[in-house]
Amino acid sequence: MQEWIYLVIGIAVVGVLAIAGFVTTRVRRPGRLPEKASTDVITPAPSTTVEAPTAPPTVEVETPEASAEPAAPTLETPEKPASRLVRLRQRLAGSNALGRGLLGLLSRDQLDEDTWEAIEDLLIGADIGVAPTQELVENLRTRLRVEGGQAADARAVLREELINLVDPTMDRALKVSGAGDAPGVVLVVGVNGTGKTTTVGKIARILVADERTTLLAAADTFRAAAADQLSTWGERVGVEVVRGPEGGDPASVAFDAVKEGIDRGVDTVVVDTAGRLQNKQGLMDELGKVKRVIEKQTPVTEVLLVLDATTGQNGLIQAKVFSEVVDVTGIALTKLDGSAKGGIVVAVQRQLGVPVKLVGLGEGPDDLAPFDPAAFVDALLS
Ligand code: GDP
Repeated sequence: MQEWIYLVIGIAVVGVLAIAGFVTTRVRRPGRLPEKASTDVITPAPSTTVEAPTAPPTVEVETPEASAEPAAPTLETPEKPASRLVRLRQRLAGSNALGRGLLGLLSRDQLDEDTWEAIEDLLIGADIGVAPTQELVENLRTRLRVEGGQAADARAVLREELINLVDPTMDRALKVSGAGDAPGVVLVVGVNGTGKTTTVGKIARILVADERTTLLAAADTFRAAAADQLSTWGERVGVEVVRGPEGGDPASVAFDAVKEGIDRGVDTVVVDTAGRLQNKQGLMDELGKVKRVIEKQTPVTEVLLVLDATTGQNGLIQAKVFSEVVDVTGIALTKLDGSAKGGIVVAVQRQLGVPVKLVGLGEGPDDLAPFDPAAFVDALLS
């Protein structure tokens, strides 16, 4: 009889402890997106792991002394894309040798052959390219002859012609939305060192600023630091990164990330890729495979080529190789801050036939802005 009483008491104690344990676990589980972001709902394929941000904000209300856990660092709030244009103007205005030089020459009393030659040299020196330079000079000569050569007019005519050259009719919206419930997939390609991984991190911030749920894929598995670099970018704004083993198959990481994005219903998946320019065939095989495996699940909505504005003709040649390998739909032009080579915007659009959609303006986390032809030209001429 006594044994029965002990047994009943024992079962009751175990039951109470189990309920208390369950309640504690529920209350302590933090997360930005409670169902989607908690690590235990993720079932990654064997070759990849999904990193949860190490410091998600907690919805728990705890008094400081009651908590033994370290305080979670607050997530950063990225700057809205629209206000970045203001800074684009300021950054370019600091190095606008091209604009100032052109205005100086065009405001001369006599626009003689020497002056037009100096204008041409200036434009070619700014990487605009030979054909667009000739086109611009021809238009300026005709219009200034017809409309008169007053300095104020010259400025207005130059502004108009430069905007036409940059082409305000191109669609520069980054395609970050998929059809129906599917995520938009942005595949970011380009040579190593151009600022590719940094740009992926900055794009994540733009998407977060636009209140879009985002997932990053660290498919540059060949550069040891790239995945860590991306994780750091993600952690700062609460965006998770899907990564694989170092030296692993980039296509498998891209596949897993997009699958994860679909399963979770995120708005956009941004895929960083390896930028080894070994040979065209190798590149084609690698990037082609990445794109193919993604598109087994959902279409890639944007192929963004990252190009370093300071690399001039060499950069353009490399960019061309990439555009022959994948169907590039937009260009992110990095390191435009401090570069007197703003003309590369025109050259690259002409050579590749796709618009510059984003410009990198520095190493700061929000130093990436949507490209706007009029704002760009105004910055050059300010
Ligand atoms: P990746 O090899 O192409 O992935 O290049 P990273 O993203 O690692 O960038 C290479 C370097 O370029 C880093 O030091 C970045 O901070 C720098 N960088 C990237 N974008 C810009 C930019 O717009 N302006 C400046 N000044 N530096 C940049």
